[in-house]
Amino acid sequence: MRTWIHTAHPARTVFGAGTVERIRDEVERLDRSRALLLAGHAAAPVAGQVVDLLGPVAVGRFDGAAMHTPVEVTDDALVLLRERAADCVVAVGGGSTTGLAKALAWRTGVDQIIIPTTYSGSEVTPVLGETADGVKTTRSSPAVLPETVLYDVDLTLTLPVHISVTSGFNAMAHAVEALYSAEASPVADVLASHAISRIASALPRVGTDPSDRDARTDMLEGAWMAGTCLGSVSMGLHHKLCHTLGGSFDLPHADTHTVVLPHSLAYNAPAVPDVMARIAGALQDGGRFTANRPSSAGSDLGRDVPALVYDLIATTGGPVSLRELGMAEDDLPKAAQLATATAYPNPRALTSSGVEGLLRQAWRGARPEATPTM
Ligand code: NAD
Repeated sequence: MRTWIHTAHPARTVFGAGTVERIRDEVERLDRSRALLLAGHAAAPVAGQVVDLLGPVAVGRFDGAAMHTPVEVTDDALVLLRERAADCVVAVGGGSTTGLAKALAWRTGVDQIIIPTTYSGSEVTPVLGETADGVKTTRSSPAVLPETVLYDVDLTLTLPVHISVTSGFNAMAHAVEALYSAEASPVADVLASHAISRIASALPRVGTDPSDRDARTDMLEGAWMAGTCLGSVSMGLHHKLCHTLGGSFDLPHADTHTVVLPHSLAYNAPAVPDVMARIAGALQDGGRFTANRPSSAGSDLGRDVPALVYDLIATTGGPVSLRELGMAEDDLPKAAQLATATAYPNPRALTSSGVEGLLRQAWRGARPEATPTM
């Protein structure tokens, strides 16, 4: 029998198609009337739609959100927030825009309404990662949690396929890491398994037809579930490693998660065969609810999970090597050292040499072999 603790976070979640029409009501529901709109350049057309819907409630717009939440960008946005006397922020875009909203809330306590258009899941976690002087630091606090999350599937239809794929694997990584976390619980187990099934089933369909609303719905709901899991557990090797690679080597966030996932799975697999069986069941399930019942087929396939995930990445056109993301081979030992410099819970003991071996495999883009010790 395991002992578990589950922390649920308060948030109002609105999900559907066309739900963005409710944005003004959602601002008023918080008793706010002066919204600063936050966006990134690529999501500008979608953000424009939200500004129109906000009407006079929109008192300013900041389009400079950037990946890994650089503190200089936050400082610029803070000036505008104060200048316009905004009493809430409405963030439209991916994890970068959500990160900026959280950084502003951390500094000022301003209310946040997040409209996510990628699958990063940041909108439902109490985690804020910020980058200063090339180092990414992460804090976890309920103070950065948004008041309202408004999902509108229609706003994700324009998300380019490559970003959809890598962002989808970012979400899958949240679910995977929740399953073997020290804080895994029955709630996280169910949500994570369901998220993996939905994402694995929908990713190829989004690749074939990016405007497939059913596939986009599966992706967005899967991302919500995966992010919700991540929000209630601590992060292990996979996330720590990706944060190091993103913050200190400036690698793109979701692409890095995609490349590293099969290799972090392969590293941890010998320590958690039961979790690998559950993931195999979820991957096989193709979108149906799997809950707590790894099938016998799943148990057999558990040892192949890292390779199955690698194959799903390759067939959906995702990146498979750190080399193609621009990582220098000479930087691998430093990255391994940084990622193991502080202790954190992980199912398998972490050594700098072990993590460097993982990174070398990921750098080459090697397909993981079946886990031998199950
Ligand atoms: P992102 O927010 O940078 O978005 C990726 C690209 O997609 C951007 O160019 C963006 O403008 C574009 N885009 C977004 N929506 C679009 C749309 N509808 N149409 C066209 N283009 C669109 O990337 P991301 O992967 O979503 O987020 C990465 C950031 O989020 C990183 O800084 C990462 O650290 C953070 N993050 C934090 C958490 C957390 O829990 N704190 C979780 C995941 C990610």
